[in-house]
Amino acid sequence: MGDSKQEVISVIGAGYVGLTTAAIFANCRYKVYLIDINKDRINKIKTGKSWFFEPGIDQLVEAAIDQKNLIPTTSYDTAIPDSDFIFSCVSTPENPDGSPNLSYAVNSFESCLPLLKEKAVFIQKSTVPVGTGAQLEALAAKRRLPVTYVSSPEFLREGSAITDTLWFDRIVCGSDNTEAAEAVIGLYRQLEQCRGHIATLAELKPKQSNGGNYIITTRNSAELIKVTSNAFLALKISFANNIAKLADATGADINEVMDAVGADHRIGRAFLSAGRGYGGGCFPKDVSGLIASAAEYDVDMPILAAATDINESMPGYIANKAQERLGTLTGKNVAVLGLSFKAGTSDARQSPGVKLANILARSGAAVSVYDPHANGEAKAELRNDISISHSAMEAIAGTDAIFIATNWQDFLELDITQTRRAMSGTLFVDCMNAFDISDVERCGLQYIGVGRNGVVA
Ligand code: ADP
Repeated sequence: MGDSKQEVISVIGAGYVGLTTAAIFANCRYKVYLIDINKDRINKIKTGKSWFFEPGIDQLVEAAIDQKNLIPTTSYDTAIPDSDFIFSCVSTPENPDGSPNLSYAVNSFESCLPLLKEKAVFIQKSTVPVGTGAQLEALAAKRRLPVTYVSSPEFLREGSAITDTLWFDRIVCGSDNTEAAEAVIGLYRQLEQCRGHIATLAELKPKQSNGGNYIITTRNSAELIKVTSNAFLALKISFANNIAKLADATGADINEVMDAVGADHRIGRAFLSAGRGYGGGCFPKDVSGLIASAAEYDVDMPILAAATDINESMPGYIANKAQERLGTLTGKNVAVLGLSFKAGTSDARQSPGVKLANILARSGAAVSVYDPHANGEAKAELRNDISISHSAMEAIAGTDAIFIATNWQDFLELDITQTRRAMSGTLFVDCMNAFDISDVERCGLQYIGVGRNGVVA
């Protein structure tokens, strides 16, 4: 594949995954084309800025644009014939029936096919159901357009996307072509060499260095690894939420329960935090996508159907608890703080905070909302009668109840005494179970968490 420093990469899709991947490799001295059909996104990136918030991304995009190593474009024709590696990072949204919509993935693949240079490696990073690679390879074979295909799913987390990409837990490369899988691993070995420099550029703290964990599998295994990982994490959250309902009913405290349960090294504490449930562009769609793709092979996934049901019940469950305390939601002023699906990102797709705000408004409350980064991205998902504030204090002023729906640092450090003074009422709903109950109650507020304040017998 030649000298790795001169190799050219194309990244298709300038979303969270694609732009992060492109910005990182472009600062690793690769020449990187970033292709997107969305002109607005491409034009914004050309100015040296990301279209979404992610710690460190603007610094990396600006540096790469300045160095002319990152070339944003809407044209496959310029980029693909010049590229040794093509990362496909387009979205795979949900169809109304929960199955993944593969049209973007198929379109980008078809656009590349006639333009690929010999020995170019097409790397599928988008989350696709198991069997997709086989289908795409069959499509290429039918057209007599050979393709070297590697499935290398993405595991980055929004909010820590750059650090996750630089200090990956594992790189999975699934292919029938071991040479191609090794070539992709070569890119990441190069990345390991530059990661300290890239972290400094992004003004992020370098992590403790560990050698890359590279796993070569079959293409189908790689596809299944990605969705299985996400489905299992979603399952853990729903499991914690299911137990939280029992904790509420019995007067147990879910944080105490899960701290002790998670202390068992066979189980682990991660992803056992109860709260308003999971959201975002991955977990909800990956879980329903896995259910749908298993169904095509006549395999039932009742455990994942239950995870989805529990997850969907959580915003309503929290709203009900607040309603019980307030008597009614009709006519009450409430604030929801936190609209991104988690802290550290502006992504408000399938956001539990947004769902909660909509449920409260539907139940007759006057709702004000605020998020330090996601007001813009959440707007289209919010009911028209919800008012968007420019600060937490503006949202809180004169409310009967406030709901902390995302654990942004700003919210965790909220001055509770000042909050109490600004409110008309006294209800503090901690949808993330992130606060110390006595800290809140000491300031004269009534605390509601998820699985933390049942009636003690
Ligand atoms: P993710 O969070 O997985 O990165 P996003 O939805 O944020 O997903 O981004 C996917 C990007 O892929 C979008 O910017 C979209 O415009 C782009 N895209 C979709 N289809 C194509 C295509 N055929 N060619 C190029 N870009 C595409």
